[in-house]
Amino acid sequence: MKILHVVSEVAPWSTTGGLAHVAGALPAAQARHGGLGVQVAIVAPAYRDSIARVERAGRRLIDTGIDFSVELAGARQHGRALAIEPSDAAPVFLLDCPAMFEREGIYGHADDALRFGLLSRGAIDVSDRILGGMPDILHAHDWPAGLVPAYARAVVGDWMKDTRCVFTIHNLAYQGVFPKQRVAELGVPWWTFTHDRLEFYDQLSMLKAGIAFSDAVTTVSPTYAAEILTPAHGAHLDGFLRDSARRLTGILNGIDVAAWDPSNDPHIAAPFSPARFERKAENRAALLTEVDLDAADGPVFGVVTRLADQKGMDLVAEMVPQLPELGARLVLLGSGDHWLEDRFRLLASWFPRHLAVRIGYDEALAHRIYAGSDAILAPSRFEPCGLTQMYAMRYGALPIAHAVGGLRDTVIDPGDAELARGNGTGIRFEHATAEGLLWAVRRTCDFYRRDPAGWRTAAVSIMQRDVSWSSSARAYLALYDSLWS
Ligand code: ADP
Repeated sequence: MKILHVVSEVAPWSTTGGLAHVAGALPAAQARHGGLGVQVAIVAPAYRDSIARVERAGRRLIDTGIDFSVELAGARQHGRALAIEPSDAAPVFLLDCPAMFEREGIYGHADDALRFGLLSRGAIDVSDRILGGMPDILHAHDWPAGLVPAYARAVVGDWMKDTRCVFTIHNLAYQGVFPKQRVAELGVPWWTFTHDRLEFYDQLSMLKAGIAFSDAVTTVSPTYAAEILTPAHGAHLDGFLRDSARRLTGILNGIDVAAWDPSNDPHIAAPFSPARFERKAENRAALLTEVDLDAADGPVFGVVTRLADQKGMDLVAEMVPQLPELGARLVLLGSGDHWLEDRFRLLASWFPRHLAVRIGYDEALAHRIYAGSDAILAPSRFEPCGLTQMYAMRYGALPIAHAVGGLRDTVIDPGDAELARGNGTGIRFEHATAEGLLWAVRRTCDFYRRDPAGWRTAAVSIMQRDVSWSSSARAYLALYDSLWS
């Protein structure tokens, strides 16, 4: 089986969040679990920064000689596929088209519809030459690759008749909605511009394109798969999704357990494991020193996040004034909405002994926060899957999560007494309000102080949970297989 993933970001070459982490890990896990009969590759854009990152990593970009040419908005764009070498189990090909991709940043350009149209069309055009034969599965991720299934079915037609299309929704909140004149500029036929295909309130929706033209649609947790069929979480697409529900399943994300391994992590102060859990304390002390907080007897909370409304960080900001009374510390790393960045900077200046804030995207510091924190906050208003709670578990930090989406599927809260016996995986609260979060944080602080031995048992037990890609990689392979039966 030949599988091609098409995605706008892939770790470690281009990253804004969870999508890149998934694209960087799932294909390799599929290659591992699929055995000899399975061949997997990834196509993503060659952004200026990705080219620099490949060089910094000591890898090379090889011109494969595989080229493509696409007409967009009356201009012909030429590109080539570059291979990253030496390659991993799932080779990554970067589409080089400087006019479209050699820019600062990944998203937010006026011609994003055309840029990601080019990714989608270019990936199709190079697919057979990259894989040495037609792909059996074209697996497109999120709105930037939403036109992949649309091109495959409505433009390319017969050439791809034996290829099945799978589309994964990593976050329904981002839909890739553009003015309808883009439809013609992208070379997509007008008959697709209907309410059950590409049209969304008289505009083009790339996310709908991906859903409408795929043989199977997945999202990244079972609970989110059910939630998006409701008006509360459907982002105005719940009706359309209900009509597509037969093709929709939820498959939980995993994490890359080799890159996130506390017993072998170059970023952290002291390696630790369930058998050597006491060494986590060294990471805790090192983290507090690094961010200029005093040693604390109460718990250290960590947050690593995009600063966006989705993540519920305004609730965390409301809680900060309680930290002194709770005897807790909070270390926050994030970037995103400027008003939230400013609010946290200000709060850190008001509560310098209890709150440390680092604004920016810093992979290494993220590892040290997971390793050094006793608990990680995940108060998202909605969360398709969420990776932060799984990194937390792997590093023996109790996730404190709003019971929604993938957080509900992965953070199992049987109560403190059961947690102290090594059952469950974290602490959950039902309402995404400041009171809800504060209730959970208070409970965490009480549990931490009242029962240190029970806390240790809980932390060691969550480190041993399987958060790898194994079972989900198999679930995707089984889904691909089912498309032929
Ligand atoms: P999303 O994809 O919605 O941003 P996820 O939890 O699914 O959220 O995955 C994003 C991951 O990226 C987080 O788990 C976190 O570890 C990492 N991350 C987010 N923001 C930062 C940051 N500022 N610095 C380092 N890592 C970050």
